Amino acid sequence: MTLSREAMSRHEALGTSQRPGAPVRWSFECSACGHTAPGANYAQLCPSCAQPLFVRYPSPWPTRDAIAPRWDMWRYRAVMPVAAREEPLTLGEGCTPLSEARSLARDLGARRLLVKNEAVSPTTSFKARGMSAALTRVRHMGFPGLVVPTNGNAGVALAAYAAAAGIPARVYAPTATPRPIQAQVRAHGAELRLVDGHIGDAGAAAREFAAESGYVDISTLREPWRLEGKKTIGIELAEQLDWRLPDAIVFPTGGGIAIIAMWKAFGEMRDAGWIDRDAPLPRMYVAQADGCAPVVRALHEGAERTRGWEAPATHATGLRVPAPLGDRLILRAVRESGGDAIAVCESDIEAGARTLARSAGIDACPEGGCALAATAELLRTGRIPADAEVVVFNTGSGVAYRN
Ligand SMILES: *Cc1c(COP(=O)(O)O)cnc(C)c1O
Ligand SMILES: [Zn+2]
Repeated sequence: MTLSREAMSRHEALGTSQRPGAPVRWSFECSACGHTAPGANYAQLCPSCAQPLFVRYPSPWPTRDAIAPRWDMWRYRAVMPVAAREEPLTLGEGCTPLSEARSLARDLGARRLLVKNEAVSPTTSFKARGMSAALTRVRHMGFPGLVVPTNGNAGVALAAYAAAAGIPARVYAPTATPRPIQAQVRAHGAELRLVDGHIGDAGAAAREFAAESGYVDISTLREPWRLEGKKTIGIELAEQLDWRLPDAIVFPTGGGIAIIAMWKAFGEMRDAGWIDRDAPLPRMYVAQADGCAPVVRALHEGAERTRGWEAPATHATGLRVPAPLGDRLILRAVRESGGDAIAVCESDIEAGARTLARSAGIDACPEGGCALAATAELLRTGRIPADAEVVVFNTGSGVAYRN
């Protein structure tokens, strides 16, 4: 929660306007134990229980009139962790298409099916949103560099945003990370370290390096900013639907930041009256691969947390997260929303991506294919009713996975 003395003095040497000690308009609240702390430019896990911290804003929230006339996710800056006159670090993330897929809706038996296509984001995945927010907060703090463990896309995003900020970056990724994604990380000048094992092993290596180097660890949910960036997919979805939300959202879930962030955004928007306070929120559906489905298993066991998934394996590498740190929050969002979680097999994931490419013109990543395959199964079994309006997320570009 507090900065090390070295980071403070490094920072003072830089003399930036967002001083670590300067008052900010947000505060932190632990998502698990309720511990609260004054806001700052940097925080990691809750100091009393080591669970993720949420950013909280003073009430009342601004009205929708506070939306800025700009065409990136920072149009929602009034409800994001950024100071009034601060220019965010942006590469134009956000404002991605929400396309109606009529023939798919007909084939799958849904009243209406929309695809939110994050493949067109800078760095070709929705990870851009989180990194834009994280680097906006930490870039002036004088850290010697930034480090992240990743299944690939968060590494590309970190590499690109760190390059834009002029800060060194190091990325720890499993050897199974698709080659084009590895090449993208290197193209932006980041140092890529391949790790034998899964993202949990990469996380351990990243934390060890952070401890010895002073690099900031911006792992999923270990710091509060990436969640605030991802939150914008939920706000943007509401704005694209003229301030209503769909009946169902199907999201390919790994670490779970997106599900948790959308659920936070929906609650905040409802409390603030940005969306109808009396309308039901969407049912949240988690899509996973059957070679790594810790959330599906925990949900159906009635558990509050996941058990680590043994030998996680799937070509939808973004979903290869055997023990998500935010498991409790993912499960809570799914249960509170009345949603569900479902695992699909590798060939259905492939078929799903092919269908999005051939029937909707969207060159989906395997994770997007997983979400579509899950949607088909949920509709087929009536778990999503045929009269529903469904939003399926394609989280990244298929191009990056073609070895
Ligand atoms: C990271 C990632 C996911 C998983 O997202 P979470 O928010 O961590 O659950 C899904 N698809 C792609 C392409 C990703 O990069
Ligand atoms: Zn706590």
